[in-house]
Amino acid sequence: MAKEIPYKIYLEENEMPKYWYNVRADMKKKPAPLLNPVTHAPMTHEELSKVFCEELVKQELDETTREYPIPQEILDFYKMYRPSPLVRAYCLEKKLNTPAKIYYKFEGNNTSGSHKLNSAIAQAYYAKKQGLKGVTTETGAGQWGTALSMACSYFELDCKVYMVKVSYEQKPFRREVMRTYGASVTPSPSDTTEVGRKILAEFPGTGGSLGCAISEAVEASSKLDGYRYVLGSVLNQVLLHQSVIGMECKIAMDKYGITPDIIIGCAGGGSNLGGLISPFMGEMLRGEKKYQFIAVEPASCPSLTRGKYAYDYCDTGKVCPLQKMYTLGNGFMPASNHAGGLRYHGMSSVLSELYDQGLMEARNVEQTSVFAAAEEFARVEGILPAPESSHAIKVAMDEAIKCRETGEEKTILFGLTGTGYFDLVAYQKFNDGVMVDYIPTEEDLAKGLRSLPVME
Ligand SMILES: *Cc1c(COP(=O)(O)O)cnc(C)c1O
Repeated sequence: MAKEIPYKIYLEENEMPKYWYNVRADMKKKPAPLLNPVTHAPMTHEELSKVFCEELVKQELDETTREYPIPQEILDFYKMYRPSPLVRAYCLEKKLNTPAKIYYKFEGNNTSGSHKLNSAIAQAYYAKKQGLKGVTTETGAGQWGTALSMACSYFELDCKVYMVKVSYEQKPFRREVMRTYGASVTPSPSDTTEVGRKILAEFPGTGGSLGCAISEAVEASSKLDGYRYVLGSVLNQVLLHQSVIGMECKIAMDKYGITPDIIIGCAGGGSNLGGLISPFMGEMLRGEKKYQFIAVEPASCPSLTRGKYAYDYCDTGKVCPLQKMYTLGNGFMPASNHAGGLRYHGMSSVLSELYDQGLMEARNVEQTSVFAAAEEFARVEGILPAPESSHAIKVAMDEAIKCRETGEEKTILFGLTGTGYFDLVAYQKFNDGVMVDYIPTEEDLAKGLRSLPVME
């Protein structure tokens, strides 16, 4: 007998996941290895350890261990804001007049406002355990920097954040949250690094980009004793930590006998979506169940739907390892009027490989339709969603409307990654009717792809 399903499902403390799930262990064809940017040979543990923390390098390279026990200190921190609720969107279903059952996993219930804290706390923990003094990182809109500064203050680590200059100027409140948690925040490109000075000389007055801030953060960590660089998405280790999202969903849904037909998430670097789908994808890879997975990205930065599956640099300064991924090219710049985040040129290599194998679908959506969906959702479900998360809302609504037309009672699960309180300038543009869509032309895309490295 199925139990009566509550409006919001919260796991009990003793039901919480005790391990992260490594989906690579169940992939027959594994993602391609990271390559040295100069020699093009696979990156060794030793090389990576100069950039990243020891334990995180192990996780990055590990394709066989299925389950990683979550250290007690991290479980204790998770308890402060997890479990996150799995919510049945009854009001949205009613509004859409759909027979579909819609569930969302809400990751915005913590001060940083997004799922990024799940990996920030893990990365800070391993840095502390290694005896490091601090870490460096980049942040775009600021969610990752905020999450990392919270995690570092918890473990008393120094935290140096390179923040994309336009965001530094346009989102002063984000910056102040980071400083309140003790982080130092430098607008990027800056004159504090060689790569920053080089970019400033080449593009005076530039507002910066994620790829450029990554290069600066990597360089800064390499010049400081007792520091390593940490990254908030894209990498295998981040996807592993984010599997806590999917694990909680799976445990909660199994408990109540709910099976999703469609699982949807927004895709920036791919960690939240990868984490959400991991345990479900594992079942599919082992031949136990079938699901439809959909990655949603902005039409203005369409790495999966219009990019190329190729080795590329992860950063503008070309100091990071090469990664095989769906990419628009490290030189790709999304249009400046793009408001909704998810602007990274590449994608997680795990998701790229799953997509390439046809195990996951991808769609791109235009930002005005994303904000329209966000407002419709906010007005009935109450939560003010982040623009990034609203990409998933948009496609979940599209699928629910399809069910209305076909009469199918599908169960839809989507990831609601965060809240939008720091995105009100974008909401303002939408409300004033001045937000425009920009879809890159074939020529724009070809220009970005010309920045791909030539491989032997
Ligand atoms: C960073 C961020 C994303 C993008 O996440 P990825 O894991 O990089 O795809 C989505 N939503 C919110 C709210 C974010 O802060």
